[in-house]
Amino acid sequence: MPAPVATTASPETHPAAAPAPAPAGDAAAASFAALTDKLDYLDAADIKRVREAYRFADEAHLGQFRASGEPYITHPIAVAGLCAGWKLDAQAIMAALMHDAMEDCGVTKVELIERFGAPTAELVDGLTKLDKLQFSTKEESQAESFRKMLLAMSRDVRVILVKLADRLHNMRTMDAMAAHKRARIARETLDIYAPIAHRLGLNQIYRELQELSFKYLQPWRYGALSKAVRKARGYRRDIVERVRLEVEKALQDSQLPAQVYGREKTIFSIYQKMREKHLSFAQVSDLFGFRVVVKSLPECYLALGVLHQLYKPLPGRFKDYIAIPKANGYQSLHTTLVNPLGTAVEFQIRTETMHAVAEEGIAAHWMYKTVDGVLPPDGTRQGAVWLQSLIDIQQETRDSAEFLEHLKIDLFPDAIYVFTPKSKILALPKGATPVDFAYAIHSDVGDRCVSAKVNGEPVALRTELRSGDVVEIVSAPSARPNPAWLNFVRTGRARSKIRHYLKNLEAEESLELGEKLLGKALRAEGLTLPGGDEQAGGPEGQLWQALLRWSGNRTRRELLVDVGQGRKIASIVAKRMAALLTETGARPDALTLTAGRFVADDNMPAQGTVVIDGNQGATIQLAACCRPIPGDAIVGYLGRGEGLVVHTAECSVGRRLFERDTERWIDVEWADEPARSFETAVSVLVDNGKGVLAQVAQAVSAAEADITHIDMGHERAGATAELRLLLSVKDRQHLADVLRALKRAPAVLKVARVKP
Ligand code: MN
Repeated sequence: MPAPVATTASPETHPAAAPAPAPAGDAAAASFAALTDKLDYLDAADIKRVREAYRFADEAHLGQFRASGEPYITHPIAVAGLCAGWKLDAQAIMAALMHDAMEDCGVTKVELIERFGAPTAELVDGLTKLDKLQFSTKEESQAESFRKMLLAMSRDVRVILVKLADRLHNMRTMDAMAAHKRARIARETLDIYAPIAHRLGLNQIYRELQELSFKYLQPWRYGALSKAVRKARGYRRDIVERVRLEVEKALQDSQLPAQVYGREKTIFSIYQKMREKHLSFAQVSDLFGFRVVVKSLPECYLALGVLHQLYKPLPGRFKDYIAIPKANGYQSLHTTLVNPLGTAVEFQIRTETMHAVAEEGIAAHWMYKTVDGVLPPDGTRQGAVWLQSLIDIQQETRDSAEFLEHLKIDLFPDAIYVFTPKSKILALPKGATPVDFAYAIHSDVGDRCVSAKVNGEPVALRTELRSGDVVEIVSAPSARPNPAWLNFVRTGRARSKIRHYLKNLEAEESLELGEKLLGKALRAEGLTLPGGDEQAGGPEGQLWQALLRWSGNRTRRELLVDVGQGRKIASIVAKRMAALLTETGARPDALTLTAGRFVADDNMPAQGTVVIDGNQGATIQLAACCRPIPGDAIVGYLGRGEGLVVHTAECSVGRRLFERDTERWIDVEWADEPARSFETAVSVLVDNGKGVLAQVAQAVSAAEADITHIDMGHERAGATAELRLLLSVKDRQHLADVLRALKRAPAVLKVARVKP
């Protein structure tokens, strides 16, 4: 499957490869005159700016032609004309004129900002970005995501409106295009753009896009159906005309000024109805309908009364969409009437504003804006409220200025839509990072992710993703989640997966430590850690089960984690195990070491001793009171639930703990070659003066150590000051070197390692 981001330009907007001479007679269509009539709602200054945009676009597209042979500029002019029909503001009209200029003519955004200002440049830029997206996946479920992504990327509803006008004009002028291109564009229009038009309530465009797509996707079926419709309409023309006249007269007699329009269903909607309800063409009854447009909301109900007196209503077919509007803001009264000739005809009754909203949706806001920017007060729901339900804006918006503000911000403020390398679309919360993306794909991908590429470029894992990004995760089998990711992930899923992993990791370390500790305690009893667990058969399984009943743990693993984290004391567990063995009369030699081996074992670097190499995670901590470093004599204290805490042998805090609780002491020793540096605290008394810190820092770095923290104390500056440094050193010898270097510094009066 090809990536959704097209290479240079979308085919429907690109001019034909070979420039053709302009056919005669296109000069008028290619000139600004084609647009001026439609711009009378703008003021003179705005029209001047629009004209400048036209000149700019005309120059940029000079020498380019459409597939039809017309000068390329006719297309932007036509798109701007459609937008002018909605009375969009000058910025939107200018953007419509220049919408293909960046992509096709190498115009830069900076250039547009300088000449036309940032807002217009943003609109053009937004349109250019949408142009690069091509919906290529066949998956139905992806279409909705793609539509949302388009809306999210637009950021401004005017971008979508210009884009829809662009698409409509392209659909109207596809005849000169190659058939396979037409089919692809028609499919995309039907799946993506028509539903967006529908969602925004632009029903007129929605119907036309569907109709044109249908025509290009199924030309034969379209041809046959439209022929049938023409015929059927011919038969019924008389009836329809008679009904229209009768209705108009009845409304006039009741002093209700109204316009009555005949309404024809589109070929596509007839086809859809036939397919969905399994009907033949002859069975589709409502080829015709009427719209009655009145001045005010109460008149809608008055007109309904008049119609129900004129003809017999069909029971069960009346719907009040004025009292209960449809989700996209649609309002009307619907009723189906049977005339004296026995034909059932649907009537839709609405006000002018309701009609505008029904036909033009979101665009109706501009069309029917009065001087103060408020929709006509005929009882129609305020556009602002309607928009709220339309695009799920959370808080109430009441006035028109606020409404306009909402149109200019994100349509989906909380979500972004990104692609996998295989063109699958994922929705993520705004601010999501490649790590969130990785976990959204699969927790294994998240756990093993090491780096990421966005749109082919390597990026940091904390980079915020944006809609339309193509994200690729680089993973390695040995990689593990990093606790630092918790600082920037946005999704709950990523957060909980990382936490889960870290918790497991801690449990794994505690289990290992628990095994060591219990093993050692058992050796002191002349026993060895029995194999198996509570699930095992035979005496081993029974022994574990008895031990777990006593300890209150569910599994061997859980008991050992408890021992490792200090919640249970190894020597007590070992004693209990010895007692159980005696009680059950289990043969000691099955489970114990011989006395000789036990003694020999004790002389070896004891197996129960915990070796500190700096690689341990959260289970083993170096006490913050004395900050032991390799070379110090150390002792281990098994804190309750906090794992093993390592103190220096002379630490006063450690000694107090020892006196209180001798059971909890564990033998610890340093590894021969610790894996990292260790932090320890040093106090430095200095002459207070300029450049003191620099001297201290230089001395430390000359001894090849690092300062990781400096505390200057809170006392007021006197002649001398005490600095507290945290130094990162390899071992005791290294620390001695650093202290010597510090003492040599002129400003330093006294240096000492901090002891509690
Ligand atoms: Mn275009």
